[in-house]
Amino acid sequence: MKIQIFLFAMCCVAVAVCAQTTQKSPRELYDAFNALRIDGATVYTVDSSQRLELRLPDCQIIFEDGKLAFFSPLDGQVTGAVFSGRAHVLAIPRDVVEKQQLARFLGAPVLDQDFVSGYFRFTNDTAAELLHQLQIAANLPHSDEPFASAWNAALGRLNPPHTLRIIQEQFSEHAKHYFQAGLDGLATGSFDIVYDQAREESMLFGQSRKLNGRDFYDVWASYRATADAAPAKAFHALHYDLDTTVRPDNSLEGNATIAISAVTGGERLIVFQLSRALKVESVSNDAKEPLTFFQNEGMTVQERNALGNDFLYVFLPRAAQHGSKFSLNIKYRGKVIEDAGNGVLFVGAREMWYPRFGDTAQFADYDLHMRWPRKLRMVATGMLLEEQDEGEFRAGHWRSDKPLPIAGFNLGDYASASLSAGANSVDVYANRQLEEELSRRITASPEIPSIVDPYVPNSPANGMAIPAEIPSPADELKKLAREIQTSILFYERFSGPFPYRRLSVSQIPGTFGQGWPGLLYLSTLSFLSPAAQERAGISSGAQERFTEIVPYHEVAHQWWGNVVGWSNYRDQWIDEAIANYLALMFADTQKKTDRTLRIWLERFRKQLTDKYPGMDLPAADIGPLSAGSRLDSSKSPFGYETVIYAKGAWVIHMLREMLRQPGAANPDARFTALLKTISEKYAYQPFSNADLQHEVQLVMTPKMDLEGGRSMEWFFEQWVHGTGVPHYQVEFTAHRAANGYLVRGKLLQTGVPRSFIASVPLYVPAGSGRNVLLGNVIATGPETSFHFTTQTAPRKILIDPQMTLLCTSQ
Ligand SMILES: [Zn+2]
Repeated sequence: MKIQIFLFAMCCVAVAVCAQTTQKSPRELYDAFNALRIDGATVYTVDSSQRLELRLPDCQIIFEDGKLAFFSPLDGQVTGAVFSGRAHVLAIPRDVVEKQQLARFLGAPVLDQDFVSGYFRFTNDTAAELLHQLQIAANLPHSDEPFASAWNAALGRLNPPHTLRIIQEQFSEHAKHYFQAGLDGLATGSFDIVYDQAREESMLFGQSRKLNGRDFYDVWASYRATADAAPAKAFHALHYDLDTTVRPDNSLEGNATIAISAVTGGERLIVFQLSRALKVESVSNDAKEPLTFFQNEGMTVQERNALGNDFLYVFLPRAAQHGSKFSLNIKYRGKVIEDAGNGVLFVGAREMWYPRFGDTAQFADYDLHMRWPRKLRMVATGMLLEEQDEGEFRAGHWRSDKPLPIAGFNLGDYASASLSAGANSVDVYANRQLEEELSRRITASPEIPSIVDPYVPNSPANGMAIPAEIPSPADELKKLAREIQTSILFYERFSGPFPYRRLSVSQIPGTFGQGWPGLLYLSTLSFLSPAAQERAGISSGAQERFTEIVPYHEVAHQWWGNVVGWSNYRDQWIDEAIANYLALMFADTQKKTDRTLRIWLERFRKQLTDKYPGMDLPAADIGPLSAGSRLDSSKSPFGYETVIYAKGAWVIHMLREMLRQPGAANPDARFTALLKTISEKYAYQPFSNADLQHEVQLVMTPKMDLEGGRSMEWFFEQWVHGTGVPHYQVEFTAHRAANGYLVRGKLLQTGVPRSFIASVPLYVPAGSGRNVLLGNVIATGPETSFHFTTQTAPRKILIDPQMTLLCTSQ
């Protein structure tokens, strides 16, 4: 589905600061910091007679026995130390969810580990603090060249990922300190402790892991230390002018002019994301001065492993003034367009084909000037203003008519179909040929499914094999355009008018989709008929997904993601969940039954509560929705997808059900109003968990107020910031009473914390498939008693047969 970049480690965009200024150029400093080594003449021996320790928020590192040495100073500043021997770290995050995550990775809700070596880098007073303790203990350094040279051999490799972060502070006027320790844990192997005040969440504990050839960064805990403030975003991009040429060999040449405003002022370093496949040739400012830049140098391990993103660091010649506006010109070239065979092309770098700020909620205006080989067709975000031949090339100019979080394009040997209705049009583009891999799979399938027709002499039943014809993705264009148009009209009821004048729907090889503003990437599989999907070996579940859900999920992202944005990884689930849930609602209307939504919800519930091979826990227990991309880890490689899409859709469903007014002219009026309000109020802004809670509280009904105080805190704590799916059982007896039957019983709740509360509807079967509501029981903890009076003695009590609550029962 829409694959978004993991932003949580990117907060170092807001640069750190140190009062001192430097005379060295960024490049000279970069080289000097990389070359730092430890001095073999000043090595300290540490033993347990002295307590040498480092204190970080909620964390303590104790050096028990071994050797410790500091880096040589640079401009009077010591920025590193190394240790070998025996030491211990103890960290206790305060947050319950962070404790739960630590327990998941380490088996205990605290980090309590011995380590045998440590590499420490810092811009805070760590060196002064340690030296002070050593002096108090009258611990004097001695010479130990073997110790120093063993460490120095490794520093050439260990230093660079920290260097840019360290020098940031010398190019900024607002000091934000940095501390990182790479520790060799006895029980866990290598792990990191990060305390970086320039990160949105200043504390981080975690480690790199490899699983089946895939790199993960397992985040054990990540949160903002109590004393730290959220770092401000230093720069904002106002306008991107992207002049892009795609050469016949599919290489790309780019010339980006980016208008930027300095939000905080006092900063000299600007960080962009850009695919490593594109090599930056120059960066200059308005005065055409060439600027110092670093590309893909010094990414931290967390960035490289968790983000997989590539960075461009640009140093301004002088600190930007608060509120000032300026532009940068960046020239780059490289291969980001890949050929999937049979002339099917796609942009491999996706969101990274131009230098951009990583924050998807930084809305900006765009002008795209594109040039591409004449034989191909180009589709792009924005309005096409003009298109003409230029020699061997076609040239086109697209301009955004609304602020966009991102811009994209696609190109190919397309057939197309268009459909106009009302204010907007849908244009569908598909390659005439199938990409190589799919066409191989289809031709390898034995023969087309036999349509046995006894009245046709040459039907397969009579022994004639029909050669497998390769379907073309272009076959189904009109049908797809019509369905997408229908979905737009459906979504407008919940989300307001379609935000763009056109929606270009284009094909992309592989199995993912992406909803760019006004432009969809849809997997080739979504363009194929069910018969062709079957021949390509696509399972029936996947077929349903590619046909019924994915295209419409991406259409829903036109509002949810492209207009209502998100900027923190903890909030990303909201747009995904709303897009997914609206796609389910749309699928439901298309089937003209009330079953599809139910089937998908059942499927999602099963995905959340079953334990799958390769996962240590059922998906519902691995982490909360607000853990976002951290849900993908070496312990649950596909955790993100399952939790975000399945649980996310369920959470939106539960909100809808709670807001529902059965019997009203439009039972969904409150839910519809909620979504419409959000899409208007938060247009072109980030939308957060706190915002969602606030908006739900404005429309909540008294029945939703389980804890009083007109607060939905209970719901968000449990379902957004918490884990688990409750399991219910009911035990009851029925006795004749004065006016009917007295039903007494208890509702048993397991699978969730003791504090979990929920309003659980109980029903009694009334024959011919009809169920009658007995009443709602507010489950508070493991066992809740209830009593009801009924006219007949119930033989059975059903727990939420209408599926209004994510739970399992009996
Ligand atoms: Zn999505």
